Amino acid sequence: MGASLPYDVAIVGAGPAGGAAAFHLARLGRRVLLLEREPAGRSKPCGGGMAASVQRWFPFDLTPAVDQVIRQVRFTWCLEDPVTAELPGDSPFWIVRRSVLDAFLAQQAEAAGAERRFGASVGAIERRDQGWQLALEGGERLEARAVVVADGSGSRFAAPLGLGPARPRFAATVSLEVEAAVAEPDTARFEFGLVHHGFCWSFPRRGGYSIGVGTFIGRQEADSEAVLASLLPALGLPADAGERRHGALRVWDGHHPLHAEGIVAVGDAASLCDPFLAEGLRPSLLSGTEAASALDRWLDGERDALAHYTARMRTEWGDSMAWGKRIAQVFYRVPRVGYQLGVKRPTAPQRIAQILSGEMGYGDIAQRVIKRLLFQRG
Ligand SMILES: Cc1cc2nc3c(=O)[nH]c(=O)nc-3n(C[C@H](O)[C@H](O)[C@H](O)COP(=O)(O)OP(=O)(O)OC[C@H]3O[C@@H](n4cnc5c(N)ncnc54)[C@H](O)[C@@H]3O)c2cc1C
Repeated sequence: MGASLPYDVAIVGAGPAGGAAAFHLARLGRRVLLLEREPAGRSKPCGGGMAASVQRWFPFDLTPAVDQVIRQVRFTWCLEDPVTAELPGDSPFWIVRRSVLDAFLAQQAEAAGAERRFGASVGAIERRDQGWQLALEGGERLEARAVVVADGSGSRFAAPLGLGPARPRFAATVSLEVEAAVAEPDTARFEFGLVHHGFCWSFPRRGGYSIGVGTFIGRQEADSEAVLASLLPALGLPADAGERRHGALRVWDGHHPLHAEGIVAVGDAASLCDPFLAEGLRPSLLSGTEAASALDRWLDGERDALAHYTARMRTEWGDSMAWGKRIAQVFYRVPRVGYQLGVKRPTAPQRIAQILSGEMGYGDIAQRVIKRLLFQRG
């Protein structure tokens, strides 16, 4: 079917999800076109925290994209009452700079044989007899047998094409980068008490901090200026440091098909981001990797291969996120109780380290956590 078309797969968006899909498909010998709206090397609002365990999905070394290796994670309630989790030496947490990670993945894809085009904004995706036609802003038209929708949280294609939830749910974020001398370069911090229905983070990176505020329940953005006015001085920074960037992050909100005939959604476009801690890089890399393998089999004529992609993302990620969503709903409604009964337990630091390193899913801890929150509140 459609073997005469110029590309096997067109990928819309060169973030981590699209870059991972492009690399794996090109490595499998497929003719890949990776389309990215923005110029190369653009910075994105993102904390950049990522489990080192993602390395297992790639045959090349990811460390050129790593800015900082994190050995411990500190949680606080209103900047006090700290809990510190030591991350095991063999599974640290990495801080990546997004402009570097995204460009690095796209370069690896190109080296594996993918064609990439920056400044190429896709305006429409339409089904054709033999595959799909993509119309670029500016009028150019391209054809491919299959498409990967990897256009991120603001995806204009996923819902209309029936991929992921029809009405996506969003977390509100404010983020900033601050140049400064970093006091504890191997410690990532999460603060829960200052933000209504969410948390703020400060991640060290080379030459400064990546800082942000996320709100996970309701559509309302946290009073981020008041939060930052407390958080930044606690880090030894001026309260007005850094340029504020506001964003809407599409978060996981139920199990949905992530495929249709000859098309899949990956990463934020597929609403995979963790609704409790906003972890979106790992599921982006995982879904890009899984989608590539499924598309490769589909292109060889395996009709159910894309349905297997949806099913696999459910077992490998969605089932854990279903618990993450329930934990978020309970925790962010009664965060003080959640902090005392969840984070401050003697076993919590180890569990948290296992979640962040990707060794454990939310399902492993959720039932116990929810029972504790519901029945020991008073
Ligand atoms: C403030 C903030 C902090 C975060 N911190 C973390 C963190 O610490 N750790 C973590 O794991 N996750 C974090 N996340 C989530 C993480 O950034 C996302 O989950 C991740 O970027 C998703 O990758 P993606 O490839 O799906 O989408 P994106 O990285 O958004 O890439 C999509 C790409 O598609 C391009 N595009 C869009 N439309 C078109 C079009 N029409 N044509 C062509 N190209 C198009 C865009 O320019 C973009 O480059 C954070 C998110 C935010 C907002």
